[in-house]
Amino acid sequence: MVSQYDINEIDNEIKTWLQELNLRMPSLIEEMQTDTKKNRFDLVTNVDKMIESDFESFINKHYPTHKLYSEEAHQATLNLKEGYTWVMDPIDGTANLVKQQDDYCVILALFVDGAPTLSYIYDVPRQILYHAQKGKGAFINNKRLATVTSLPLSEAIISFNNKVLNDETMHELLKASFGYRLIGACGLDSARVFTGQFGAHIHTNAKPWDIAAQFLFAEELGLEMTNFDKQPIDFVTGGPYIISNPGCHEEILDILLADGGYKKEQLRLKTDLK
Ligand code: NAP
Ligand code: CA
Ligand code: CA
Repeated sequence: MVSQYDINEIDNEIKTWLQELNLRMPSLIEEMQTDTKKNRFDLVTNVDKMIESDFESFINKHYPTHKLYSEEAHQATLNLKEGYTWVMDPIDGTANLVKQQDDYCVILALFVDGAPTLSYIYDVPRQILYHAQKGKGAFINNKRLATVTSLPLSEAIISFNNKVLNDETMHELLKASFGYRLIGACGLDSARVFTGQFGAHIHTNAKPWDIAAQFLFAEELGLEMTNFDKQPIDFVTGGPYIISNPGCHEEILDILLADGGYKKEQLRLKTDLK
């Protein structure tokens, strides 16, 4: 399909839309109301819903032929690999927003005929925008990010949710790596891998919106982004996800899958692991 839209123009419009969140966020937070979804840890707020519906209105107004596939309402779910499809997590790190008013972000990605074309992870509290454009590179607040230098696991800080790995796998990862940190927002944990601060971030059951933007950053920065069989991830379905510096990808997966794998004894936890 021939592109009908000027990608640079879309990029500028999206950046402006994201910038406007700076003005809106304080009053949205002031009026924040929290509900639970599947269980008491599964939070959603009116902030998540308002940001998503605001973006939906923006797309309908400026790009009425584009589809939107996003966390709260899902909107379009068919033919997502045809034409222009936006994938959105309106707030990634909702628990952080509710509990800390910190460490949350907006994730947005445009796929054109299934190919990652524009990507944004906006760290709202810090006003740090990570963005990428296909073929043009990846940027932090408009400053070009360098491709990462190779990092062995022994020198890498890694991040993963420690609720979802069995103790043995978790301890093997801790032993083999330089250290462990978790921000608690898949977009921001992944962004630390873009900048080379983290060696890898693992999510054992990522939803499409958790990882939508990361495809293009991985492509532009020479990072590995795969499932645990080292295969590409389908942006429509998500699933097990690792984004990694190329120097420690294989070593981490070897540990994750060793000796019965990370899922062994995982069900000792009563929390749902979906
Ligand atoms: P959290 O602080 O609520 O969230 C941490 C990150 O995981 C955020 O990016 C969040 O996105 C995402 N997330 C939250 N709930 C999720 C779910 N049910 N499935 C997939 N991703 C999810 O995390 P938590 O309090 O430690 O855990 C909350 C629940 O999420 C638990 O049931 C946990 O098992 C599950 N979770 C699983 C993994 C994994 O690697 N399998 C990782 C994180 C969380 P939003 O803020 O947009 O929800
Ligand atoms: Ca999320
Ligand atoms: Ca979310």
